[in-house]
Amino acid sequence: MDPCPFCRIAAGLEDADLVALRTDRVLVVPALRQRRRNRGHALVLPVDHVARTADADPALLGEILRTAGRVGLAQRAAFGATGTTTFLNEDAPDQVLPHLHVHVVPRRAGDRFRMPDPEGEVQDREERRLQGLALAAALRSPPSTGSGGRG
Ligand SMILES: [Zn+2]
Repeated sequence: MDPCPFCRIAAGLEDADLVALRTDRVLVVPALRQRRRNRGHALVLPVDHVARTADADPALLGEILRTAGRVGLAQRAAFGATGTTTFLNEDAPDQVLPHLHVHVVPRRAGDRFRMPDPEGEVQDREERRLQGLALAAALRSPPSTGSGGRG
């Protein structure tokens, strides 16, 4: 049994109902720990176990970051975010899982977001499942970026 929780999700062995998006190389799941003011915080991770960005090929990193951008737009539609903060940890003191993952945090005016974040709380499974469904729906019909067609 693979001890890496993200590899187990990627293999479909756990939490299949939390996966909001899956391609051949990346998947999107709601984060376990979230602040109430940043509901919808999601993770983008590679399907294959990659520990660090330095170990990942550029095409994979490109797909991860492009997917993070799509998730950010979906969070506007699914959770009313007005923007996002995207980050990743590499051997950070508070990092729990050594499987590369990018955090995409939905932001709103007055959310008082900060890092590292002492207000992150473990979210229950049903809440995360509902977030996954909302993100999945928003990812299927990406919202307009608002840039319009003029110019
Ligand atoms: Zn892994």
